Amino acid sequence: MTSDVSGALLRWYDAHARDLPWRVGPAARARGVRPDPYRVWLSEIMLQQTTVATVKDYFERFTARWPAVADLAASPREEVLSAWAGLGYYARARNLHACAQTVVAAHDGAFPSTEAGLRALPGVGLYTAAAIAAIAFDEAATVVDGNVERVMARLHAVEEPLPGAKKALYALAATHTPAARPGDYAQAVMDLGATVCTPRSPACGACPLAGGCEGRARGIAATLPRKTPKKAKPTRRGLCYLARREDGAVLLTVRPDAGLLGGMAELPGTDWTEDEPAPAPPLPARWRAMGAVRHGFTHFHLVLTVLRADVPLDAVPARGRWTPAARLDDAPLPTVMRKALACGLGPERLL
Ligand code: SF4
Repeated sequence: MTSDVSGALLRWYDAHARDLPWRVGPAARARGVRPDPYRVWLSEIMLQQTTVATVKDYFERFTARWPAVADLAASPREEVLSAWAGLGYYARARNLHACAQTVVAAHDGAFPSTEAGLRALPGVGLYTAAAIAAIAFDEAATVVDGNVERVMARLHAVEEPLPGAKKALYALAATHTPAARPGDYAQAVMDLGATVCTPRSPACGACPLAGGCEGRARGIAATLPRKTPKKAKPTRRGLCYLARREDGAVLLTVRPDAGLLGGMAELPGTDWTEDEPAPAPPLPARWRAMGAVRHGFTHFHLVLTVLRADVPLDAVPARGRWTPAARLDDAPLPTVMRKALACGLGPERLL
C-alpha cells in the first residue's frame, strides 16, 4: 500500500480533473481563485442521489435565476419546489430553501466556514458539511460518499459488506485526507470513483493508485464493496383523480410538509397502501379510469391508477385548488404526478 495516496491522487487530478460548472479546477485554484460556497453547497445538495449529467442543467437554471444565496432565500418556496421538480427527494428542496433562509437570517448571508458550523444548517448532513468545508474552505475534512467508499473498499480490500463497513471505510478515508489541498483532494477521490474506479469495471490500468491497491492485487476489486442484500421492495397502490374543468383548469392539492414529496403539488387521491385503495373522489362526477402509472421510490414501488372527469365551471371540490392549464407547467409537480397528469390527459388505456 503506497503511503502517498493523496499525493498520487492530486497529481492525477491536476491532469484529469473533470470540468464541472460548479467547480474551480486545480489550475485556477493554484492561482488563488476560490470557489463560491453558495455554488458548492447548491451542487452538493443537488448531487445527493442524482447523477452529474442530470444536475448540470438544474444547476445552471438555479444559478441563473438565483445567483446568490440571498436571492434563493427571498424566493417563494413554491417557486423553488417547482424549479426542483424532476430531481426527486423533495425534502432536499424544502431544506434547500430553509437553509438559504437560515444562512441569510443567522449568518448575514455568508455560509459558516467550518464542518461543525455547516453541520448545523438545515439539510446539511455529515457528508455535505465535510464536502463544503473541504471544497469551499479548504478544511481538512474527511469527505466520504459512495464513490469514496468504493475506492477505499478496493484500495484496502475491505470485504465486510455495506452498510456495516461504513465506519471502517470512513476511518480509512480519514487516514488519507491531507493537510495540504484538502479541497482538491476531496474532488480528486470523487473523480477517481466516478471515472476510473467505477462500480462495475474499474479501469485499473489508468489508475494512479494501482500500484498499492490491495483489491486489485487480490483480483477482487470489481466485487467490492460488498453489500448486504436488500429486501425486495413492496408494491403500493393508489388512485388519483384528474378533475378537468371546462376551461381546462385542473384540480391540484398540496401534500403535507412532513413525509414523502412533502410540500409538492399532486392530483388529489387516496393514500398509497399495500391493500386495494378505497375510492375517494374529490367531487362527485363521472370518473373514468384512464390507465395506471408506475413509479419507483426508495422503499416501495407505486402503481397509481388515474381516473378522469370533465366537470362544469361551477364544480365545487371538497378539497384542492383549480390550476389554470397555462400554469400547469410551473406547478411543483413531482415526476410521478407529471406521469399521472400525462396519463390522465392522454387517450384511455386498458388497465
Ligand atoms: Fe480502483 Fe483499480 Fe484503482 Fe484499485 S487500482 S483504486 S480497484 S481503479
